[in-house]
Amino acid sequence: MSEGQGAALDPAKGEPFANPSVRRCGAWSEASQLERDYHDVEWGVPVHDDRTLFKMITLEGAQAGLSWRTILARREHYRAAFHDFDIARVAAMTDDELHDVLTNSGVVRHRQKIASTRDNAAAVLKIIAEHGSLDSYLWAFVGNTPIVRRGSGESVPATTELSDRLSQELRKHGLRFAGSTICYALMQAIGMVNDHRPSCFRHPDNAGAISA
Ligand SMILES: [Zn+2]
Repeated sequence: MSEGQGAALDPAKGEPFANPSVRRCGAWSEASQLERDYHDVEWGVPVHDDRTLFKMITLEGAQAGLSWRTILARREHYRAAFHDFDIARVAAMTDDELHDVLTNSGVVRHRQKIASTRDNAAAVLKIIAEHGSLDSYLWAFVGNTPIVRRGSGESVPATTELSDRLSQELRKHGLRFAGSTICYALMQAIGMVNDHRPSCFRHPDNAGAISA
């Protein structure tokens, strides 16, 4: 997730928090109620459920070249179009079903992205067969421990050595729309990397110290 400056606004009041020490992660996390809620509740929280992990692989892939808000606003449509992200059911989707998705105005109608979702589901099923779960496969890349952002720097990278490696490995397993930038965004989203700013109220060091 890219960054910018931005004061934290209380979602209930639409004005700055009464407590001036409450901060979020800059402009992206304040852009709209959608992003605020996503930032406050989901982003960076460790995910260990295979279906949710597959959902995030799908949504991050769908985002490629678009804003995250575009995808956030369409999540319900993706859930409905792709069988609530049941991996086996998505892997078994017929060409006709994929064609229906392509005519669904609720999702990003990008032929390769939509086709990749079925292929990625099939690839994920193989990963699960080899590694026990998608959860154990992905989290092994960080030794099962989130990498937490430290220091005073305000910027985060778009890719890292680790996202390069994850991308290479996922592509080896046959996943598409899994480039390093997408992989890094995935790692942030599912909490393998906790990239909340150290000044953000959602940074783990601030748990309990600052309340929104
Ligand atoms: Zn944050």
